[in-house]
Amino acid sequence: MTALPPVDGVLFDIDDTLVATREAFGHALSAVARRYLPAVAPERDDELVTSWRADAHDQYGAYTRGETTYRAQRMARANDLHAEFGGPVLDDEAYDAWDDLFDAAFRDAWLAHDDASEVVDALLDAGLVVGALSNAATAYQVAKLERAGLGDRVPMLVGVDTLGYGKPDPRAFAEACRRLGTDPARTAYVGDDVVLDAIASRDAGLVGVWIDRPGDRRHTVTDEQLAAVQARITSLRELPALLGVSQETVAR
Ligand SMILES: [Mg+2]
Repeated sequence: MTALPPVDGVLFDIDDTLVATREAFGHALSAVARRYLPAVAPERDDELVTSWRADAHDQYGAYTRGETTYRAQRMARANDLHAEFGGPVLDDEAYDAWDDLFDAAFRDAWLAHDDASEVVDALLDAGLVVGALSNAATAYQVAKLERAGLGDRVPMLVGVDTLGYGKPDPRAFAEACRRLGTDPARTAYVGDDVVLDAIASRDAGLVGVWIDRPGDRRHTVTDEQLAAVQARITSLRELPALLGVSQETVAR
């Protein structure tokens, strides 16, 4: 891997990068399955998470492009899940109850990845500025960062509602850099999605870092995509050294 240019700041994706969102979805979908999906035994709950995260009809993508509402995309995904795993069709009223159950269990399980807090501290101690750019709504992500114990150190700078669309649009990255106060060419973006995070940030002129946690891939990654990745790490603990920041401050 070639050396990366020096950076003054680091922007983070939130879900599955700083926060263990896949595990939180697992918690939420298990709660859903016990009430709505009697054919799914608990041993099969991982299949629900895989299907949910794959989002086969790209409902969440449509939301990040400003083409649909948050509620509409999540209701559509809930019905996709029920169609696949034998649950009832949810009308508006039924979906409200479904979402109450899902969201309470989801929020209950918002935890930071165990490498997140110490690495944020290491970057801040080294004099870098940090912030978050996420494809979810700003207030929702502020609550998530607070719940995960990162809200005091990681400001939520740009959400999908800031501009009305999100990543991979280069303007989302540009706005996040503007709010962070850094030159895009001297700003790293760290995220778990190879296309929306790693490649899109590089295309927007930032330093793209792909956090490829073991077992966390949402989609199959092609050789072409891999070749377009500037830097790949499998734990955030690799980030300080990758960015030339002293590792002494990073607990092992
Ligand atoms: Mg993510």
